[in-house]
Amino acid sequence: MRCSRCSRRAIIHLRSYRLALCEEHFTERFLKTVKRAIKDYRLLSKRDRVLVAVSGGKDSLALWDVLLELGYSAEGLYIDLGIGRENYSEISKRKAIAFAEQRNARLRVVDLREEYGATIPKLARRSTRSVCGVCGIVKRHEMNRIALEEGYTVLATGHNLDDEASVLLANLLRWNTELLARQAPRLEAWHPKLVPKVKPLCLLTERETATYAVVRGIDYVYELECPHSEGATSITMKEALNRIEERSPGTKLYFYREFLKRRSMFAPPEERGEAIECEVCGFPTTSQRCAFCRLVA
Ligand code: SF4
Ligand SMILES: [Zn+2]
Ligand SMILES: [Zn+2]
Repeated sequence: MRCSRCSRRAIIHLRSYRLALCEEHFTERFLKTVKRAIKDYRLLSKRDRVLVAVSGGKDSLALWDVLLELGYSAEGLYIDLGIGRENYSEISKRKAIAFAEQRNARLRVVDLREEYGATIPKLARRSTRSVCGVCGIVKRHEMNRIALEEGYTVLATGHNLDDEASVLLANLLRWNTELLARQAPRLEAWHPKLVPKVKPLCLLTERETATYAVVRGIDYVYELECPHSEGATSITMKEALNRIEERSPGTKLYFYREFLKRRSMFAPPEERGEAIECEVCGFPTTSQRCAFCRLVA
């Protein structure tokens, strides 16, 4: 197959756009798409100090690479969750550190064992929540804490189009209007102790971010998935969407982008009751102690 732009050998065929692209034109288009998301959804400005949450996987490392490539001030944060099965955390941490060294970029590593004497599996055993539920609370808290303590103005995560479309489908199937209202490429900080969050890869599929990572020579964890991801609802949603996409290319992107245009119909404007500050960490919460502080107590 030949590139639709220059007739060199194509490395990817994007059926939804009826485009085949060579390495150079694919990379150019990838960067353009990220720039378009940043501009259309007002995600970042060149004055921002961006903290990129990196997991060692393709999406977060591709995101960090793109932001550096586009000239943003972007530093990384790796949270060592202590997920030991198949050495998942150890291997992904090494990939994140190696990437930072190659790009001469700063990576902050937070080790849950050192900070709180706990790991995600250990915290989950003491909780009634699922492992992923616990992990989500811990990651959100720690990402926000580091961003705030170290003066970053925005937190960027590597969520791609497949992630966003699958969450959207799951929320729609349950008509969870509260979560639908909160799903956006940029989440503003509604409290002084919160840092805004952005998802600059939201218009690019998992296949595109994986291809970008390979083309850019990024060494990411591809042979391992987090062992707790098996059977997650998001995987079922992704499979369903992939089947639809197979029959009708472009549906995933259309589904997500059209939702963003109509998102305001779900937005609960200013009805986030009075926020209390957690008595331990000071972050906004609805009870005396936030979910994170209750978990690590
Ligand atoms: S799959 Fe679950 S436990 Fe594993 S990193 Fe993701 S949220 Fe955490
Ligand atoms: Zn080309
Ligand atoms: Zn707290």
